Amino acid sequence: MTEKLSLEKRFLSIEENYKEIKENIAAAAERSGRNESDIRFMAVTKTVEPIFINHALSLGIDLIGENKVQELLSKTEFLEGEAEKHIIGHLQSNKARKIINEVSMIESVDSVSLAAEISRQAVNNSKTMDILLEVNIGAEASKTGFDFSAVNESAFKIAEMKNICIRGLMAVPPICEEKAELRAYFSKMRRLFEDMKSSSPAFSQFDTLSLGMSGDYAEAIEEGSTLIRVGSALFGMRRY
Ligand SMILES: *Cc1c(COP(=O)(O)O)cnc(C)c1O
Repeated sequence: MTEKLSLEKRFLSIEENYKEIKENIAAAAERSGRNESDIRFMAVTKTVEPIFINHALSLGIDLIGENKVQELLSKTEFLEGEAEKHIIGHLQSNKARKIINEVSMIESVDSVSLAAEISRQAVNNSKTMDILLEVNIGAEASKTGFDFSAVNESAFKIAEMKNICIRGLMAVPPICEEKAELRAYFSKMRRLFEDMKSSSPAFSQFDTLSLGMSGDYAEAIEEGSTLIRVGSALFGMRRY
């Protein structure tokens, strides 16, 4: 009885959270003169059990993100409906083979060698994999991702690889005390994205700038993000 009640409570809280997030997205789009429909919403489902993910999908959410290959694979068979899936966490090259047919995008490509392995697996499976290049925008030792100054050169190498399409950039900025500092990171990413896109036909297919999580998606939208990745604001605090 209590079990059922807490399940329903949690379903309800996901519904309420999603409603509030959608209102916040609309307000941020309005403030920045953007079209709400240009911002894609991703539910980040790490540590979330399939029953709750399915409830989120039943609300119309159509994109989920997982950090770990094993966790993604263990949940896939329990998911109901046709959600698109992205990998958003550091991917070891030797795991690329396992997810090549499971996800539509790898957002966390952080080295030329990883891209080369994804390319090899994509060729083997006769498909093209969409990727984003992850930028270590705060130059943090604890994070993976390309150095800001190295993205462009690496991107040219990756753009030449077979069966890979670079759709844009992704970043997780450092924790910032000041919103102004956070916005500066986002806007630096936006400028890099625009500069690369306009600099070469190799990047003309850029359409995705993945910025913003539970605590900062409104600022990210105002600074130009096209894809926000939201976990705890939707599902509640993660319990590991
Ligand atoms: C966990 C995670 C998120 C979501 O984080 P929340 O703060 O819970 O919204 C987004 N992006 C990446 C890369 C993550 O690892």
